[in-house]
Formats: sequence, C-alpha cells, structure tokens
Amino acid sequence: MGLCFDFSEEQNMMRDAIKTFCKEEVEPLVENAEKQESFPIELYPKMAEMGLLGICFDEKYGGLSLDKVTECILAEELGRTCAGIAKGVNAHVDLACLPLSKFGTEEQKEKYLVPSISGELIGALAITEPNAGSDARAIKTSATQEKDKWILNGTKTWITNGVICNYVVVAAYTNKEDRKNGISIFLVDKDTPGFLVSRKIEKLGHRSSDVAELVFENCELPKDALLGGEEGKFQALMETLIAARISHSIKSVGLATAAFEYALSYSKEREAFGRKINKFQGISFKLAQMATKIETARLLGYKAAWLYDQGRPCVKEASMAKLYSAEVVQWCATEGVQVLGGYGYATEYAAERFYRDAKLASITEGTSEIQQIIIARELGI
Ligand SMILES: Cc1cc2nc3c(=O)[nH]c(=O)nc-3n(C[C@H](O)[C@H](O)[C@H](O)COP(=O)(O)OP(=O)(O)OC[C@H]3O[C@@H](n4cnc5c(N)ncnc54)[C@H](O)[C@@H]3O)c2cc1C
Repeated sequence: MGLCFDFSEEQNMMRDAIKTFCKEEVEPLVENAEKQESFPIELYPKMAEMGLLGICFDEKYGGLSLDKVTECILAEELGRTCAGIAKGVNAHVDLACLPLSKFGTEEQKEKYLVPSISGELIGALAITEPNAGSDARAIKTSATQEKDKWILNGTKTWITNGVICNYVVVAAYTNKEDRKNGISIFLVDKDTPGFLVSRKIEKLGHRSSDVAELVFENCELPKDALLGGEEGKFQALMETLIAARISHSIKSVGLATAAFEYALSYSKEREAFGRKINKFQGISFKLAQMATKIETARLLGYKAAWLYDQGRPCVKEASMAKLYSAEVVQWCATEGVQVLGGYGYATEYAAERFYRDAKLASITEGTSEIQQIIIARELGI
C-alpha cells in the first residue's frame, strides 16, 4: 500500500485464501440464510480455523496480529459475497471484540475475547435504544451499584447478532448527572437472569444477519462485568468505532462490486434491438461510472485503513470513506437493477438483494448525516 498503491504479498495471499473461502464456504449458505433471516452460525468455527475472526488481534489471544488493511480485505470479500453475513461478522469482530481487546482486563480477554476469536462465542454491541440512536448520550439504560454487584435496567434496539450472540457489550449510565463521562460499558452474558431478547426485528435487507430488541430488567451483574474494570469508558468505546466505520466502508465497496459485476455480466448476454445491451452507450456509461466510483471508494477506504495501521489520525478519512462508499453502493445497486430492467426487480435475481442491502450503508455505524457532521468538524467548520 502507501505510495505504490498495492497490497503486500501477504495481503494478496490472504485475499486469495479469503476469496476461496467465500466461494466454497459462504456462497452456498447465502440463499438459505436470507430465507431464514438468520446468520449461519456454522460459519464461525470455519472462519476461526482460518484465523479470520482474529485478523487484527494479538497472537497471545489466538489472533493473527495482522493489520486493518488485511481485515478490510475480509470485509470487502464478505461484502461482495453477502452483505448480511458481512454485517454479522463486522458486529462480532469490530463492535464486540475490538473494545474487549482494547479495554478488557486480562480476565475479560480470557473469558470473552479468546473464545470469540476461536469461534466458540458470538458477541454484539448494544448502544442504540428506541429513543436514542445518533444521539447516543440520550440513552436511558442505567446500572446502579449494590454492594458487590451492578443492577442493569433498560431496553436496547437494533442490536446486530442480538438473537444469536452469547454475550453483549452494553452501554449504560452509571452516573446520570454526567452526560459526558457518566456512561459505562458492561459485559453481559446472554443467560443472565433478567436479560431477555424481546423480539427479532424484520427488515428490508441484510436478512442473513439478525437484529433484535433486548430488555434488561433488574439484571444482576457481577462487579467485574464492567469493561476494563472502570466506569466511564464510553468515550473510549466511541473512538474504537472509527475502526468499525472503516471496515463498513470497505464492506460497502464489496457490495457495490457485486452489483457492478452482476450488471456487467448480464449486459454481455442480454440483447435488445439486435445487439448486446452493453454495446449501447447508455449502458456502457453506467458500467464505466460504477467502476470509477467503486475504485474511488475503495481507495478512500483502504487509505483510511492504512492510516489507522500507521497510528496516524484518520477520523476525517474514516468518515469520508463511510459517507462516500454509502453513496456509491446505493448508486451502483440502483443502476445495477436498471441494467437488468424488469429482471432486476425479480427476487430470483441477486440484483434485487443488492438493492435492498445497499440502503443500510447510510444508516448504521453513524448515519451519512452524522459522518458529514464529523467531516465538517474535522475541517474546522
Ligand atoms: C440493520 C441495523 C443494524 C444495527 N446494528 C446496531 C448494533 O449492532 N448496535 C447498536 O447499538 N445499534 C445498531 N443499529 C442502530 C444504528 O446505529 C442507528 O439506527 C443509527 O445510529 C441511527 O439512529 P436512529 O435509527 O435512532 O436514527 P436517528 O438518530 O433518530 O436519526 C433519524 C434521522 O435524523 C438524522 N439526524 C439525527 N441527528 C442529526 C443531526 N445532528 N444532524 C443532521 N441529521 C441528524 C439521522 O441522520 C437520520 O437521518 C443498527 C441499525 C440497523 C438498521
């Protein structure tokens, strides 16, 4: 990467291995997972076997100790194969495991991170609530201390992996008077009494990953359920979301690529007015624009990942990559349907799934409006 704009030999080898994995292990599961509207959990041990759940994590905990660029290669290839499955993996790795690896105590890493990397446990992150999304500090969930335990109360919604997870990383106020530093992070086991998955949410796209509403009712947590053993870790957690944003942008690039490749291939076969439709400038220009936009989004995303790996500031670049890739994937998915004409509208053609899946890019992990607020702030506006 860097000035030569290329991946290292190791990164290219990983891409080849991941491509093969996606073709042989992920692709055959997509249709059923989309129909069942649930993540195919049998993938976790298989991914773990290849080290794919711990690309960026320390070897000490079973990870590969590789870089964010390599993790993005996984996000791109999974996104290209199935955006829903990519989303489930992204929630496990970037939203649950990353905060654990950054802030967890050694005991917490042993209990949660190690089995998460080995594919035995699935994690989720719960910040959003029915009345608090973009304005995360408006959450109502709270935890009060009673002798040697915490009592957690509240409702979370839109939690990816909420149904299939074994544990949840939960944001809750421990000091309601302090909006800035009063939110703490808890590790909550699924089988904790008082923890209920109240409903699975049906949604437009990304059907092969689940989202759920979670209720915590007088949920008793041990003292050491506090992530890192300290209160007030919310701001630090929010900073780790930069990494998730970068993966998300590249996942969108993967999905946009799938939409492009599908349309390209169709355009070479379909005939109208006595010729292949890709010979019409109206169609070939669409494809040329798709390829150009995708390449631009890919460069932005991998540049942000590269900056992240160098330990350089990348808040602005991560948000730019997230914002732009969201526009690109929606545009490519819409034009992809257009290239297929009526067939693009039929559920039996993948273009329809790409179209439904693309919309989420501008909503999760910070909406496009929120990304613009961050970019403007970074520009000093
Ligand atoms: C499929 C899916 C999976 C998800 N997974 C998770 C998960 O795993 N964990 C989790 O905690 N959450 C998750 N979420 C929630 C997601 O992060 C929120 O939906 C997102 O942050 C937006 O919050 P909201 O839906 O409450 O919208 P709101 O915050 O109510 O926003 C509504 C609209 O107002 C705009 N808006 C809000 N504030 C401003 C502003 N200051 N300036 C300009 N415009 C503004 C928004 O951009 C949006 O267009 C998921 C959501 C979905 C749909």
